[in-house]
Amino acid sequence: SVDVVTLGETMALVAATTTGSFAVGAPARISFGGAETNVAIGLSRLGHSATWIGRLGADPLGHLVKDALRGEGVDVSHVRTDAEVPTGLMLREHRTADRVRVSYYRRGLAGSRLTPDDVDTGLVAAARTLHVSGITPALSESARAAVHTAVDAARAAGVPVSFDFNYRAALWSVTEAGAAFRDLVAAADIVFAGDEEAAMVVPAGSVEEVAKELAALGPAQVVLKRGAAGAYAVVDGESFTEPALAVSLIDPVGAGDAFVAGYLSAMLDGLDPAQRLRRGNVCGAFAVSVAGDWEGLPRRSELATMDATENVAR
Ligand code: ATP
Repeated sequence: SVDVVTLGETMALVAATTTGSFAVGAPARISFGGAETNVAIGLSRLGHSATWIGRLGADPLGHLVKDALRGEGVDVSHVRTDAEVPTGLMLREHRTADRVRVSYYRRGLAGSRLTPDDVDTGLVAAARTLHVSGITPALSESARAAVHTAVDAARAAGVPVSFDFNYRAALWSVTEAGAAFRDLVAAADIVFAGDEEAAMVVPAGSVEEVAKELAALGPAQVVLKRGAAGAYAVVDGESFTEPALAVSLIDPVGAGDAFVAGYLSAMLDGLDPAQRLRRGNVCGAFAVSVAGDWEGLPRRSELATMDATENVAR
């Protein structure tokens, strides 16, 4: 059985490597990213088995994503190729030194055409954990149904469900998303959110209050990701707090997914809640201090790197 099954959308990425508007001849880096595949790659690098379910187009970008995931050790045997539409694409401009602008070309494209049929419920039922994000239900009616098919299959089999809010304002309103997230929180065992995201489902309040309110909806583990302030969790009614690591911020995108990979990894290893938060923080620190959404994710042998007091290891 596989450690973690996850499903969702992954898009190709063209990211400018210099500052300014996109222009003819400007240098760029080709990559890809998606919240759930970021988590799957993080888990795979930490030595866990991870399967990603999703759709890609029958085009060079679809091949790029699938080949790279395979290279990272993520099981792509459940990925469907959709011959009718292209793979989605993100364009990232470093508009100024401090402002990044991402444009998405995803509506109606392969990733959004995920359906319940794409979800092997037997695979989900045999997994150790199912991980879903709040992005997938915003993509289309069929993608939303696919998430529910997976969550129902996991619950019926007693497989813990992990849910990361991942609210994307470009895809749906706070009201629409809030209602959908409330159902997913109630169905989940492990919930990840930012402070502001949490307030979409429960009344705004202190970190402690918000986490407690979320836990009251059902999940045994509620984890609040707090950026440079680290993370806070309520696990089985007990609260835990862990500070972030002091690192140089290079690229904040993907920190949340890295954190989730670290937390779930520690959970799968049977570590206690404080250790889960610590590994989440370490993975988040790796992610923010390297360019790219997932490229900086650590391998298991590198986890201790962040404890080093010297900058150079040799
Ligand atoms: P994103 O959506 O940008 O991927 P997020 O909002 O879901 O991220 P954050 O709370 O920003 O998640 O970051 C997740 C984790 O990454 C934090 O809990 C922390 O462990 C780590 N992290 C984020 N920012 C920093 C930072 N500036 N310094 C050190 N660690 C950080």
